[in-house]
Amino acid sequence: MARIVCQFSCGAASAVATKIALAQYGGTHEVHILNALVQEEHPDNRRFLADCERWFGRAITVLRNERYGASVIEVFRRKQFMKSRYGAPCTAELKRKLLDSWRQPGDVMVFGYTAEEEDRLEDFRERNPDKTVVAPLIERGLGKKDCLAMVERAGIELPTMYRLGYSNANCIGCVKGGEGYFRAIREDFPEEFERLCQVQESIGPGAYLFRDRKTGVRYSLRDIPPGKARRDLSPPACGLQCEIAEQEYTA
Ligand code: SF4
Repeated sequence: MARIVCQFSCGAASAVATKIALAQYGGTHEVHILNALVQEEHPDNRRFLADCERWFGRAITVLRNERYGASVIEVFRRKQFMKSRYGAPCTAELKRKLLDSWRQPGDVMVFGYTAEEEDRLEDFRERNPDKTVVAPLIERGLGKKDCLAMVERAGIELPTMYRLGYSNANCIGCVKGGEGYFRAIREDFPEEFERLCQVQESIGPGAYLFRDRKTGVRYSLRDIPPGKARRDLSPPACGLQCEIAEQEYTA
């Protein structure tokens, strides 16, 4: 029988997707929950992981890339770039390859893509026709805000990054973030921001993340123009879909 492999990222969406998958498959299948540890995530992500283990009633297998010390900074330094049109090297090295190395043919992967992310699921399926992936949140019409509310209703404190107004519990200073996001990171986490600036400067303009829309000239994190920091402190919303999905694991 196929193994069910849940990818738990320390985000609310993957927590709810895992909880639903356990309710759906836990009694009939071998279910594994995997997490790829990344040093640059907020330390409170580890507290959230432990809380979720109690919620799931299962241990989470934590994988760690030893080659790069599980550090995005080390990946950037050794790869000599921070992001390209093919994605970020840190995701590939610290998460994707690690999780792939653990998988076996025939595994069914559980992703925490939300109702807003149907395109990502379609893209993934197109690019990986040999892999079987299920997305319990999309199947149930659950969005990001629904998941935040469901985690809180389970009595689990959301990871600190959400509580500060960030839309996910990614690394502090995720290279996929925009300028408004990095302005917020510069204010809230000056040391982490400085570390990113330093590694970027050591690589040079090839590592710059932003480009002036008019001139096309690329610029560094340190040269982000003045503007608004982007945070969202609106409370988690919750609809009927949450209640229906919650019944699956509370019944
Ligand atoms: S969260 Fe962002 S910075 Fe961290 S590994 Fe993923 S892409 Fe890289």
